[in-house]
Amino acid sequence: MDHFLYRDGALYAEDVPVAEIAAAVGTPFYVYSTATLKRHFSLFDEALGWADHLVCFAMKSLSNQAVIKLLGDAGAGMDVVSGGEYMRAKAAGVPGDRIVFSGVGKTADEMRLAIEGGIRQFNVESEPEMIMLDRVAQSLGAVVPITVRVNPDVDAKTHAKIATGKSENKFGIPISRAREVYAMAGTMPGLKVIGIDVHIGSQLTELAPFEAAYRKVAELTEQLRADGHEIKRLDLGGGLGIPYARSNEAPPLPTDYGALIQRTVGHLGCEIEIEPGRLISGNAGLMVSKVIYVKSGEDRDFLILDGAMNDLIRPAMYDAWHDIIPVKEPAPGAAPAKYDIVGPVCESGDTFAKGREMPAVQADDLVAFRSAGAYGAVMASEYNSRPLIPEVLVDKDQFAVIRARPTYEEMIARDTLPMWLE
Ligand SMILES: *Cc1c(COP(=O)(O)O)cnc(C)c1O
Repeated sequence: MDHFLYRDGALYAEDVPVAEIAAAVGTPFYVYSTATLKRHFSLFDEALGWADHLVCFAMKSLSNQAVIKLLGDAGAGMDVVSGGEYMRAKAAGVPGDRIVFSGVGKTADEMRLAIEGGIRQFNVESEPEMIMLDRVAQSLGAVVPITVRVNPDVDAKTHAKIATGKSENKFGIPISRAREVYAMAGTMPGLKVIGIDVHIGSQLTELAPFEAAYRKVAELTEQLRADGHEIKRLDLGGGLGIPYARSNEAPPLPTDYGALIQRTVGHLGCEIEIEPGRLISGNAGLMVSKVIYVKSGEDRDFLILDGAMNDLIRPAMYDAWHDIIPVKEPAPGAAPAKYDIVGPVCESGDTFAKGREMPAVQADDLVAFRSAGAYGAVMASEYNSRPLIPEVLVDKDQFAVIRARPTYEEMIARDTLPMWLE
């Protein structure tokens, strides 16, 4: 469910016509809906209503300050994976005790930053990292709360690039070695074990892999408690998928997911933490682009847009599908056309869709990529020296630019010449 609907023949973002935003900021751009972001957060929050819990938004999916601020104000915690994300969360006013630090390669500097600024817990992913964290904590005279991320060796049944819970993946420690690693953590004066962490992948469209992983976590909780550890918090990761095509069967809802968590680990009396990203931000955003040309090829027509792979890399990177719809509502019964939809970047990989059926459009028409809120703007680059595209936030009938498009001069001024070339 989102707030991008046709009304009076035109696509709206909440109560603002998308074409009006395009006229004000130019294309391409991202636009996010406040109502959708808040609604998705509260669906998770309510689904865990049976437990003491915290929903930590996975900032890597969408990390604009305005989005962090509005979710933080709504009560969300933040799951961060870098010093930069930690600083963004703090800058948006999220208190340290609502920030969780994940990621396989935390540096000593990043650990120091988070310990000094305040942190809810570190999710530790390896023994060397645990040793480093203990050393940094002791050097600051701190005792930091940790969970250990365990790798349950379950197949998340998702795209290989975003599966993280199989034994061949770089993430976490094998669950079979967990007791050993917790025993080691228990001897470290700078660390305080408080729980267990697991995250098996992204864009999961079935509950079965979660169920398999969470049952293993429940079993481990009981073993670790028997070993004398205090396990009072379970961080169950993110990963619940979204429907990228309207025609798809809808993946499980947060309520089903919350019930699954209750069924698998509810009896343990732990505080529950989850880290959803995509399900909160994905369908809360569109990327809006303009048709530059419709080019007739030998056996196909190309729709050449002003948006490209550097603005939205998911199709090139993950073969991802995005529904692409005209901003002007097509007349009922209008004959569909078939296009290869591409951007202007000089690579064949700059293809958003091949042989895509959609209503016919013409040069200068606007099109919207649905479900572009997650892993969209955050993965953009300036490849081909195309300036980063702006982000816009809508709230009912108002909209504001929340990251401006840099001018060419600003883009060029970020480089500096060495003195011998001046
Ligand atoms: C990427 C990631 C998430 C969020 O995944 P989504 O699929 O966006 O929900 C949560 N936790 C960790 C550790 C991650 O790496």
